[in-house]
Amino acid sequence: MVQASRAGRGPESRDTSLRLADRVAIVTGSSRGIGRTIAERFAQDGARVVTNSRHALEAQAVAEAIRGRGGEAIAVGCDVARASDVETLAAATLNAYGQIDILVNNAGIQLIRPSEDLTEAEWSAVLATNLTGPFLCCRTVGRYMLERGRGAILNISSVASRKGFPMRAPYGVSKAGLEQLTRTLASEWAARGVRVNALAPGYVETDMIRQRLEAGLLDRTCLLSRIPAGELGRPEDVAAAATFLVSDEACYVNGATLDVDGGWSAFGHSVSAGITR
Ligand code: NDP
Repeated sequence: MVQASRAGRGPESRDTSLRLADRVAIVTGSSRGIGRTIAERFAQDGARVVTNSRHALEAQAVAEAIRGRGGEAIAVGCDVARASDVETLAAATLNAYGQIDILVNNAGIQLIRPSEDLTEAEWSAVLATNLTGPFLCCRTVGRYMLERGRGAILNISSVASRKGFPMRAPYGVSKAGLEQLTRTLASEWAARGVRVNALAPGYVETDMIRQRLEAGLLDRTCLLSRIPAGELGRPEDVAAAATFLVSDEACYVNGATLDVDGGWSAFGHSVSAGITR
C-alpha cells in the first residue's frame, strides 16, 4: 500500500537537474531575504513560481527578475494573516497555472520587546503572521492538495522554536507552534498524499538579521563564536535544503524539522564560560 503510493516518485525515477520540473510553487514572503532566494532557486530547478508579500510591487519585482532569467513566475500581493487574502492567493495561482504542488510558508516577522512591556496587539500581530498565516495557507492550499492526492508543504521555522531567546516571546512561541502544526498536519495528511515538513534556519544574513546587527541588538563576534561553522548562513543555504524537502527525493521525509544552522543547535560549549577549545 505504502509502496504503491510512492511508486514512481522515488529518487531513482527522477532527473535531479530539474528536480521541480512541472511543479507549481507558492512561496509566501518572497519579496526579499530567504523567501526570495527560495523562489529563485525553485524557478532555477524548473518550477513555476508564485511570489508574494504584502507589498505587491516588491513581489512583482522578484517575479520579473525570475522571468528575466527565463523562468516562469507571477506575483500575488497579499497578507497571509487574512483568510480572504489567502483565498485570493490560491485562486490566482490556480487561475494562472491550473495546479499547486508546493507551498512554502516563509512569511514571518520578528519583534524584540521585553515581555513585561508587550501589548496584546503586538503579541497578536506576530502570532497572526507567523502561525495563523501558515495555518490559513495550509488549510486553503491543503484542501486543494488533498483533493488532488499530492502536494508538499514546507514551513519555515527557526532555531528560536526550541530555545529561550529573551525578549522574543511571541516569535519563539509562534515558531514552536509552527513546528507542532507541521507534525500534526503531516500525521493527518500523509495517507492522502500530502507531506508537511519544517526547516529551521539559524542566523541567516538577511534584512531581518542585518537590521538587528546594525541596531546593536545582536553582536556579530558573539554570534559567530556560537556557530560551529564560524559564519552566518546564506539564504542560498536555506534554499538548497528547501528544494530538497519539497522535491520527490524527500518523498519519505514527513513531519520532520531540518535545522539549517551551521551546527548552532548541536553546539554544547558555553561561550559565556569562556570555553574556546
Ligand atoms: P525578511 O524580513 O527579510 O523577509 C520577510 C518576508 O516576509 C518579506 O518578503 C515580507 O514582505 C514578507 N511578509 C512579512 N509579513 C507578511 C505577511 N503578513 N504576509 C505576506 N508576506 C509577509 O525575513 P527573512 O528572510 O530573514 O526571514 C524569512 C523567514 O525565515 C521568516 O519566517 C523568519 O522567521 C525565518 N527565519 C529567519 C532567520 C534569519 O536569520 N534571517 C532565522 C530563522 C528563521 P512585506 O514586508 O512586504 O510583506
